[in-house]
Amino acid sequence: MFLSKLREALICLKAGRVTLGYPFTPHEPKPGFRGKVTVDTDLCFGCGGCANVCPAGVIVVSDQEPRQRVLEFYWARCTYCGKCEEVCPEKAIRLSQQFETATDTPQDMYMRLEVLMGPCQRCGRCFPPPTVLDRMMKTGFRNSSEGGRA
Ligand code: SF4
Ligand code: SF4
Repeated sequence: MFLSKLREALICLKAGRVTLGYPFTPHEPKPGFRGKVTVDTDLCFGCGGCANVCPAGVIVVSDQEPRQRVLEFYWARCTYCGKCEEVCPEKAIRLSQQFETATDTPQDMYMRLEVLMGPCQRCGRCFPPPTVLDRMMKTGFRNSSEGGRA
């Protein structure tokens, strides 16, 4: 009995340290780690592609008035699957290396983004301008993240 325990102890000691020093020492995630989702509000042009593929319903798109599309992000639902990053044509939405996402402030888990769009002449619904130049010259660009973090 004693000998078997001693043998176990020796095996454990031989293995050396197998745990990480985190949180007492910084921890760098490995490449490809899917962490907190960030949105570059200057790049997003409101196409809604990310909302279409998001399996968790994090991103809700609504056209609240002609020329204005609102994107709402409910981060608490995110499963970090990375689909939104895959489809975004502007690389505006990305998964970062940040993994410390705990918060006691509900507003941190919500983000609202308003984007000026081009209204359809027939139905009046918003649509993204066909080119970046059109977007800048005709519709302008406006966005806001009211509180919260990307
Ligand atoms: S990572 Fe997945 S779950 Fe999270 S916002 Fe993107 S598509 Fe939705
Ligand atoms: S984040 Fe990308 S995919 Fe989502 S609405 Fe903006 S431009 Fe489109």
